[in-house]
Amino acid sequence: MDKKQALHYHAMGRPGKIEVVPTKPHSTQYDLSLAYSPGVAEPCLEIQKNQIDAYKYTAKSNLVAVISNGTAVLGLGDIGALSGKPVMEGKGLLFKIFADIDVFDIELDTKDVDKFIETVKMISPTFGGINLEDIKAPECFEIEHRLKEELDIPVMHDDQHGTAIISAAGLLNALELNGKKIDTIRVVVNGAGAAAISCARLYKALGVKKENMIMCDSKGVIYTGRAGLNAEKEEFAVKTSARTLTEALVGADMFLGLSVADILSEEMIQSMAKDPIVFALANPNPEISYEKAIHSRPDIIFATGRSDYPNQINNVLGFPYIFRGALDVQARSINEEMKLAATYALAELTKEPVPENVKMAYNDPSIAFGRNYIIPKPLDTRLISRIAPAVAKAAIESGVARTGIEDWDAYRDQLEK
Ligand code: NAP
Ligand code: MG
Repeated sequence: MDKKQALHYHAMGRPGKIEVVPTKPHSTQYDLSLAYSPGVAEPCLEIQKNQIDAYKYTAKSNLVAVISNGTAVLGLGDIGALSGKPVMEGKGLLFKIFADIDVFDIELDTKDVDKFIETVKMISPTFGGINLEDIKAPECFEIEHRLKEELDIPVMHDDQHGTAIISAAGLLNALELNGKKIDTIRVVVNGAGAAAISCARLYKALGVKKENMIMCDSKGVIYTGRAGLNAEKEEFAVKTSARTLTEALVGADMFLGLSVADILSEEMIQSMAKDPIVFALANPNPEISYEKAIHSRPDIIFATGRSDYPNQINNVLGFPYIFRGALDVQARSINEEMKLAATYALAELTKEPVPENVKMAYNDPSIAFGRNYIIPKPLDTRLISRIAPAVAKAAIESGVARTGIEDWDAYRDQLEK
């Protein structure tokens, strides 16, 4: 990636990556009298009588806030609220192009959990949903938890749940390929931050046994009785004699890395059980390089976060469509049922024949379900019509939807347009 080009891309024309565009006619005096005073008073009064009418008369129904305090931006760390703005605008761009969702990116200049929560609560009437982004652990857990409790619109910290949903779909497919059962596999999770904790929780919900999962952080294995663990790490502490990642990996069926580059060796992979699943998801550089991982043994099923290798685990496969489904039924939250529905929809889509336009977009005529394709490609135009309806349906069935969908076929068709 050329640094100059990246800077030019952001600076050229109107600086930044997004703008606001009116959705109603505005060329005559009469149009303006409808859009603003005096006509605008009518929807105000309707909303005053019935708050839910905001979904009918304002942009709330299609508007998501991407909110960050800049404390865990990409792999760049705590670079501050304003420095993270290009990332949040980028997220806005992705929401728009993949799911036609409008985004206001909001950069909050505070590390104080209470102030952050209070601010988000105060601005929440504007939005149909809230995507929390790049907030460091462990603060991100409390921020998301409390906002979910206190707000009646979907709140999702994408760095946690996006990763969990996408990687879980990859895991389900990898298990189908190697013939192992989720309730017997031994999993080693390296990393105990935002992404790792959420993945571990979802894997457990899908059937991985707590006693079959070992989590490691920068100090090594998180074992029962280790001093100084926060509540989230405590949740995954197990009785084990293993103290290092190397020891934990012997005989394991899966390595899930959400930590830092280059901490996994070929020897460590060689010590794992047959047909090992290795997801090395640290960005931009994985826990082990693709070349080394593939070289380590022929039976490996390997994924990274990178677009230049097979099996890219990337959140863009999830968040646009999860919010699309949630917004389309005016959901009050994004709950576990909706996340599971997204996971299964993604896993299932991978097994369908891949259309020509996707093969062409990746210049690869051979794309088909298998060890080098355990998860759909980000430019697959079917994603929206598979994930959004699955999420919307789960919202309805779990009782968090405010509206229903009358004609599912028509809904799917409209999504694909
Ligand atoms: P985070 O909240 O800062 O967590 C990082 C975790 O890594 C911490 O628990 C830290 O341990 C642990 N760690 C650091 N060095 C380690 C080492 N040598 N061995 C074991 N654990 C170590 O960050 P995050 O948001 O979860 O992201 C973690 C990584 O995953 C980043 O590289 C990020 O880019 C990547 N990621 C990838 C995707 C994807 O889809 N590909 C999605 C999300 C995140 P302590 O708790 O001891 O500090
Ligand atoms: Mg992020």
